[in-house]
Amino acid sequence: MDPDVHSRKILVTGGAGFIGSHACVALIGAGYLPVVLDSLANGNIHALHRIADITGVAPDLVRCDIRDAAALAELFKAHRFGGVLHLAGLKAVGETVADPLSYYEVNMAGTLALVRAMGNAGVRALVFSSSATVYGANARSPIPEDAPYAAVNPYGRTKAMVETMLADLVQSDDRWHVACLRFFNPVGAHESGLIGEHPHGRPNNLMPYLSQVAIGSRSHLVVHGTDYATADGTGVRDYVHVMDVAEGHVAALRHVAREPGILMVNLGTGRGASVLEVISSFERASGRSIAVHVGPRRPGDAPAYWADASLAEARLGWRARRGLDEMCVDSWRWQMRNPWGFDGSAPTARNAEPSAH
Ligand code: UDP
Repeated sequence: MDPDVHSRKILVTGGAGFIGSHACVALIGAGYLPVVLDSLANGNIHALHRIADITGVAPDLVRCDIRDAAALAELFKAHRFGGVLHLAGLKAVGETVADPLSYYEVNMAGTLALVRAMGNAGVRALVFSSSATVYGANARSPIPEDAPYAAVNPYGRTKAMVETMLADLVQSDDRWHVACLRFFNPVGAHESGLIGEHPHGRPNNLMPYLSQVAIGSRSHLVVHGTDYATADGTGVRDYVHVMDVAEGHVAALRHVAREPGILMVNLGTGRGASVLEVISSFERASGRSIAVHVGPRRPGDAPAYWADASLAEARLGWRARRGLDEMCVDSWRWQMRNPWGFDGSAPTARNAEPSAH
């Protein structure tokens, strides 16, 4: 083993999920060796096989729950990690209101268990996947990182609480190096079409829903409100390509390798797009027309928000490089190649026989 291998080995919690799998591809591309911890509750074993198809490197999978302190202790004994990307967590917004305790358990207690295990093992470089939901619905766009916490649901509050806990930790012990990445709306897929997002059941989010309408598995898209005070009346969001987000993780990892303390930083493009703009970009990408019904506003939805993306550029040297059309083209390629997600098709030989390893 070369002497540098320890600092190149990175633990990726939630590495079999949508953003985690793309982060693994970006890590491998940058010369790191990801080891994935995933319960596979939402992540998918096929994603890891596909990472191997894309990169030629198959990340090891440790299948366990992030709250399992004994398994974490074992894991940190078995490997010497140069740092941790922590993406494991629950994120379905509908469910978070109905079942808040599960969110606090997995997102809060899970991070607590992870950070304890890291501290015990002397690994103190952490990149945490947070979310722009910490800002709530009323922040003024472009939203800077010093906007106050104002999350409107338990999910967003768990993210804000974890950030606060990490800030307290860093305050108490200056050996920690932490970055909290506040994602705006990650969409798209790796350009190979081999990994992407396939939510269980009916999608909540715009892009997967749109993809499923275009492929014909859903009849139409409901636009949630056309009476907002935006240019065309529909909601505006900062959609950011998942490979840009993945590359943001690599940039953040390099940052925490250099700098102690804690950095809260937005990952967005700094530009908003309306629902109608996304629909027309997707129609161009797919060459299909999307049936649309106009519905009422979705409760709890903000009219419009997008990131102030300047801090990421200044501190991480990162900015989003891919635009909305590329996001739609890549989402569509993934959807076409995998109409039923990972489980329904086997575009590569490696995926023909699903098996845990
Ligand atoms: N949206 C929509 N129809 C859908 C899903 C979403 O019109 O089936 C709208 C939603 O009201 C918002 C935008 O698309 O303005 C992005 O919604 P998404 O759920 O993807 O992200 P979030 O609201 O969590 O930022």
